[in-house]
Amino acid sequence: MINVDSALKIILNDIRTLRGESAHLTESLGRVLAEDIYASSDIPGFDNSAMDGYALRALDTQNASKRIPKILNVIEDRRAGYISRREIKNGQAIRIMTGAVMPKGSDSVVMVEDTQRHGKDNVKIFNPVKRGDSVRRKGEDIKKGEMVLVKGTRLNSAHVGLLASLGKARVLVSRKPKIAILATGDEVVDVGGKLKPGELRSSNTYTLYSQILKCGGIPKNLGIAKDKPQMLEAKLRSGLDCDMILTSGGVSVGDYDLVKFILAKMGTNIRFWKVAMRPGKPLVFGLVKGIPIFGLPGNPVSSMITFDVFVKPAMLKMEGADDFSAKNVDAVLEEGITKRRGLRYFVRAITRWDDGVYFTRTTGPQGSGILKSMALANSLIVLPEEEENVDKGVRVTVRFLE
Ligand code: AMP
Ligand code: MG
Repeated sequence: MINVDSALKIILNDIRTLRGESAHLTESLGRVLAEDIYASSDIPGFDNSAMDGYALRALDTQNASKRIPKILNVIEDRRAGYISRREIKNGQAIRIMTGAVMPKGSDSVVMVEDTQRHGKDNVKIFNPVKRGDSVRRKGEDIKKGEMVLVKGTRLNSAHVGLLASLGKARVLVSRKPKIAILATGDEVVDVGGKLKPGELRSSNTYTLYSQILKCGGIPKNLGIAKDKPQMLEAKLRSGLDCDMILTSGGVSVGDYDLVKFILAKMGTNIRFWKVAMRPGKPLVFGLVKGIPIFGLPGNPVSSMITFDVFVKPAMLKMEGADDFSAKNVDAVLEEGITKRRGLRYFVRAITRWDDGVYFTRTTGPQGSGILKSMALANSLIVLPEEEENVDKGVRVTVRFLE
């Protein structure tokens, strides 16, 4: 049995990043850039006014005061998008709007609130203006040729906006991984089916489906395989056109736990079986015909948590993301937890921020079949292998879900 860190290392070592494809900006949110982006132009593209006000020469406002304002001659009114043909000379100003090109001869803008119109053609300035005041300089945000976004960035709304302002309607992003899901078990029935005694519905199909979507993948539901070798193999083969395959159930030591057996029959290079963790111990990982395959445990909580700990980082690496580590915080434990040495525990928890400190408590009974306790949780308390019973009040590591 290997530990969580070694298992993750083995997995990531086997995962290759998918090649890029071109996507329109409207399809790019949440996807990972597969190219570095350099600015094709300056932003802003020209010197412009940061305020509604008057463009002028700072020198002309020296010694202006409330009592003795400077009076400038307004030679034109300009709106954003129009370029003035006039040049400002000594003692002159041009009425200007936010975003309008700075007129020739001007070096500053005074905002309209600090002025008073004086007759039709003049304006009173009450304070000296510093050269460059309220002017946004050409290239002050981004210089032409500068690298603005680095390959591996997961695009958010601000990134998308930046790309738009640089005129990039399409960008190279990595292909979305296609991921097969196969539920197994004689007792497992699809969500629409009628339950006979002893049967239950396949919640794993749908938790995995949504977890894959959440991580930017395209799920392919292969349905449910009974615990019969032929059916299991046939269904598994229908996932061989995917970038990754997930099975649920059939990997522990029960008499009908056939997944490992079938994988071996299909020539799978099994990298490991069983990880020192709770829940999720019976996890299997290998490569079938070169495709990474995870045999996830059947218990609903184990399935979700092994996805979060192993499948998610594997997917992120496939997508070319530059960061696939979990985000952890420190929290004060509000109740004691009993623990066995040697396993890493992932305890379903509710973690809250209170006056500068995170506090965390469990969602109650931690049986790995209790999906409700997962639904109540917003986080997992991660207790390291070497730890034994953990007391109330100590600091523990917490990772947030979703
Ligand atoms: P197994 O590892 O196949 O013995 O499954 C462990 C437990 O998980 C059993 O109680 C199964 O009934 C349950 N289980 C297996 N597959 C699913 C599934 N797709 N959805 C919900 N529960 C499942
Ligand atoms: Mg089973």
